[in-house]
Amino acid sequence: MHIQREKLLRQLQGFGRHISNQRVVEAMLKIPRHLFVPFDEKDLAYEDKPLPIGFGQTISQPYMVATMTQLIDPRPDQCILEIGTGSGYQTAILAELAGRVHTVECIAKLSHRARETLDRLGYQNVHFLTGDGYKGWPEPIVFDAILIACAPKDIPWELTKQLKPTGQMIIPVGPQDNQYLKRIYQNKNQWIEETLMEVRFVPMVSSL
Ligand code: SAH
Repeated sequence: MHIQREKLLRQLQGFGRHISNQRVVEAMLKIPRHLFVPFDEKDLAYEDKPLPIGFGQTISQPYMVATMTQLIDPRPDQCILEIGTGSGYQTAILAELAGRVHTVECIAKLSHRARETLDRLGYQNVHFLTGDGYKGWPEPIVFDAILIACAPKDIPWELTKQLKPTGQMIIPVGPQDNQYLKRIYQNKNQWIEETLMEVRFVPMVSSL
């Protein structure tokens, strides 16, 4: 399996792709993606593709996970909010690199399954919640970064209230066939919206 992970990583670094952050590279090599995909998809676990995980949802493409993680560059003294736990694969990568991860998923069964997988891998720095990501985290925490793994039609600006002034939110925005990954951050008390690349994520569902 480790050889497959190295092969995957080479794909993530080829053809003008820039997964170069060594800590991210190590985390991608360490986390066993096959534990996060359904049994009949295991053969495809180390392909650079999203895969179905049930409930109409998908585990994100590894390149996307690596890209978003690299944008955040989570540190051991940092606290990250993730919205859209899904399989928990991205959660595990964040848990490996950050001090604490808070993750919200609207489908209870996915959240429970992700918790089981992360427990099995021994991560104790993750807080799971079944709920509506538009509401953010229910406690008054301010995060170093917010990573959103599902795409709302418009930027949920409310969530920026849970960001530190130095924090950033990485988020795919737009309808299914016209989505862009954005980085939202503050400069001189103004919110800046930087458009990074075209992407395709499952929709962020509203009014749960
Ligand atoms: N990074 C995850 C991606 C999961 S797909 C992985 O690799 O497995 C995105 C997830 O967002 C889905 O599980 C979906 O149920 C969840 N989601 C969609 N809208 C949401 C919302 N409003 N609040 C919380 N989670 C939501």
